[in-house]
Amino acid sequence: MNKDSIIHNTYSLKCIDLSIEGKGICKLDGLVVFVSAMYPGDEGEVEIDYKRNGQYFGKVKKLTVLSPNRIQPKCKVCSACGGCVFQPYAYEAELEYKTKKVQEQINKYAEVDAKVMPTIGMKTPEYYRNKIQVPFGIDEKGKAFYGFYKEGTHVIVPRKECFIEDVRANKLLDKLTKIINDLHISPYVEAADSGTIRYAMIRTSYYKKEIMLAIVTKEAFFPKKNLLVERIKRDCPEVTSLVQNVNGQKTNVILGKRFYNLFGPGYIEDYLCGIKFKISAESFYQTNPVMTEILYKTAMDFAELSKNDVVLDAYSGIGTIGLIAAKQVKKVISVELVEEAVKDAIKNAKINHIDNFEAYNDDATAFINRMAKRHEPLDVLFMDPPRKGSTEKFISAALFLEPKKIVYVSCNPLTLARDLKLLKKKYEIKKIQPVDEFGRNYHVETVVLLTRKGK
Ligand code: SAH
Repeated sequence: MNKDSIIHNTYSLKCIDLSIEGKGICKLDGLVVFVSAMYPGDEGEVEIDYKRNGQYFGKVKKLTVLSPNRIQPKCKVCSACGGCVFQPYAYEAELEYKTKKVQEQINKYAEVDAKVMPTIGMKTPEYYRNKIQVPFGIDEKGKAFYGFYKEGTHVIVPRKECFIEDVRANKLLDKLTKIINDLHISPYVEAADSGTIRYAMIRTSYYKKEIMLAIVTKEAFFPKKNLLVERIKRDCPEVTSLVQNVNGQKTNVILGKRFYNLFGPGYIEDYLCGIKFKISAESFYQTNPVMTEILYKTAMDFAELSKNDVVLDAYSGIGTIGLIAAKQVKKVISVELVEEAVKDAIKNAKINHIDNFEAYNDDATAFINRMAKRHEPLDVLFMDPPRKGSTEKFISAALFLEPKKIVYVSCNPLTLARDLKLLKKKYEIKKIQPVDEFGRNYHVETVVLLTRKGK
């Protein structure tokens, strides 16, 4: 078979597995083809779309046999949106996929046969997201609408209810759209680089009745800005904080650098495991409040902290893990690269009256290496790096400091497995617990407990 001639041709294929990004895996004469919205057991006509990095990608033209795990998706636009690859798939099967995905990465890249525990799932994987971001577009009648970017494009597709977002978001977005249309404020049009309203971002508090609305505009000043603020105040009493963000760049990145407080305190408050957090528009904060508590509780259970422990919370964000740990230990040191997040961590320590918590703004690798040079004592290390994982140098310093326990919280099983391979030189992998923070999406969080060998 001429491999290049298969592009744009259609073949009868059977889906045998799911990839790490939730795409169906099919085989075509020994070649692997990744197919969106195809699930194990599905068979059908697949058109090969394109080749990238030596891999083939296709789309379903017609299904002839359906996977036994297929269900009717609630959302009509889930395949175009790409946010919920598992909407048409039974949730139990999605959780099994997540466990298997973590297990495969661990076996392959950490080169250990440690058993992964079944993924802890949500009661119902719906209406959980506390951060909602939508682009605004303009339809053929000149009316503003909100939607999502069609996967891999800059085309805005209108949408209504989203089944994974906080229920309060959709009503607010409808009201905001009406206000924008009533006032004839134009959404931004990328092709012409003109218009005003680019995005709306909503952050909801789970435990408090607080909602932040951030409106991203092209310019700081625009006609009828005051009227817009007045109408939001009047028609959207649920909004406790209104923020404007200015993004004048021709880009798909949502937030620009400038923020203006239009009313309210400029943040919302929420609780995680009994600790209060102030969350501003730009703070990183986990998006699934119920499952984040389960994730952090798992991390705390694994750590079995005691009152004389010195703890390092590396990649600490706004200090969530460290502040939850602080009450049980002697001292928590946290390190985080983003300055604003560190400022938030310090504020969060204050509002919770936690005074055994130190927050440093630094690169985690540089910081832990300095700790190693000074032979600083360390009993428990929590590490929660971004998707690209930690670094060899970070891990060498951790091995040198040899804390009794390391609790690794990961949002990417691949880099987790790579890092575990290095950590296992001195540590035993005791427990691996995936937690489903991203129901209906292919991402999965994992908590791993490592204990020092032979001590
Ligand atoms: N533990 C936090 C944040 C986890 S996300 C929570 O659960 O909310 C990962 C964090 O690592 C982000 O806040 C990111 O800004 C930070 N980060 C990324 N690279 C870093 C580096 N080299 N050194 C320190 N922190 C880093």
